[in-house]
Amino acid sequence: SERTFIMVKPDGVQRGIVGDILRRFEQRGYKLVGLKLLQAPRALLESHYEEHKGKKFYEPLLSYIGSGPVVAMVWEGLNVISVGRKMLGATDPAKSEPGTIRGDYAIVTGRNIVHGSDSEKAAQREIDLWFRAEELA
Ligand code: ATP
Repeated sequence: SERTFIMVKPDGVQRGIVGDILRRFEQRGYKLVGLKLLQAPRALLESHYEEHKGKKFYEPLLSYIGSGPVVAMVWEGLNVISVGRKMLGATDPAKSEPGTIRGDYAIVTGRNIVHGSDSEKAAQREIDLWFRAEELA
């Protein structure tokens, strides 16, 4: 069945929101198949965000995500990619509905707490980038 890559960004870890994010996905009924805390190396972030290279927010974005440990997760279940994006809320927290993760915890795009894959192709690419096969259940 479908899998997605979800990452709690450094601000989410620092603010102690990891437990709530795990709880929301568990409570919804999704299955946790991968989980780790790591300080992402620059090269990994360059690959992860390669589509944004050259944009004006690219360097601030890499320094933000590299500023502390992140929690990388893989979740599995029916429609988890699109439902997961809905649970995260809009990229710009000003447009995120209350009740979503960003809508409950964030106010600016540059500190938006979580990442979630936006397509099947992105999910596969990101899972392969962040996890080795033997790290997944
Ligand atoms: P993510 O990939 O983190 O889930 P997203 O897919 O909702 O976010 P993208 O457009 O892929 O949004 O942007 C990736 C990340 O880059 C955003 O989550 C945000 O942290 C940062 N970002 C995007 N646009 C801006 C911007 N205009 N100013 C500052 N940061 C931005």
